[in-house]
Amino acid sequence: MKSLHLPVRLVVVSKRQPAESILEAYQAGQRIFGENKVQELTQKQNQLPKDIEWHFIGHLQRNKVKFIAPFISLIHSVDSFSLLEEIDKQAQKWNRQIPCLLQVHIAREETKFGFSEEELLELLNSGKPQKLTHVTVAGLMGMASFTSDEEMVRSEFRQLQQLFDKIKNAAIPNLTMVELSMGMSGDYKIAIEEGSTLVRIGSSIFGERK
Ligand SMILES: *Cc1c(COP(=O)(O)O)cnc(C)c1O
Repeated sequence: MKSLHLPVRLVVVSKRQPAESILEAYQAGQRIFGENKVQELTQKQNQLPKDIEWHFIGHLQRNKVKFIAPFISLIHSVDSFSLLEEIDKQAQKWNRQIPCLLQVHIAREETKFGFSEEELLELLNSGKPQKLTHVTVAGLMGMASFTSDEEMVRSEFRQLQQLFDKIKNAAIPNLTMVELSMGMSGDYKIAIEEGSTLVRIGSSIFGERK
């Protein structure tokens, strides 16, 4: 049986798309956009309407956190505790609270970033993330294997959803698990069926990226 979850929200992935394309989606009512490169994101944030909610979805280097800390709404891709500490430090400078998702490695490909299930549980049980005062761990993010095998994709998303539920039900103090970011153009339908609250979609909206 599926558990009840928040309505699914759409993150329009605008990486490598020009500002005009983003503006077009904005004018159609979209407010949440996702980017994966710091420099590209800060340029777009400068040029585009200030009520856009920018999400960071790519691998984030610690020395670049300072550039997005003043405005970022959600970081989906936190893959180490030291990164979380740096986000906390920079958020403090701006007197902000930055919501973050912890990225979990669920795909069989070796190249994708993220915590293993054991590493994640160990980190949360240590209580260290919950002590940071300017970041909130709000959920998990994951990417399924790049494959046409739908059953494999489904089982990877299901595994992530079960981990999400397990952490939620463990009622770890000062931890609010509300967002489960999974699903891209090729697999968002399966992700929604498996409990996603945030889908990150680029190419099926804008067409193939150059
Ligand atoms: C590029 C990207 C997406 C969007 O991929 P599409 O296949 O274009 O929908 C989603 N998530 C992450 C982390 C990405 O880097």
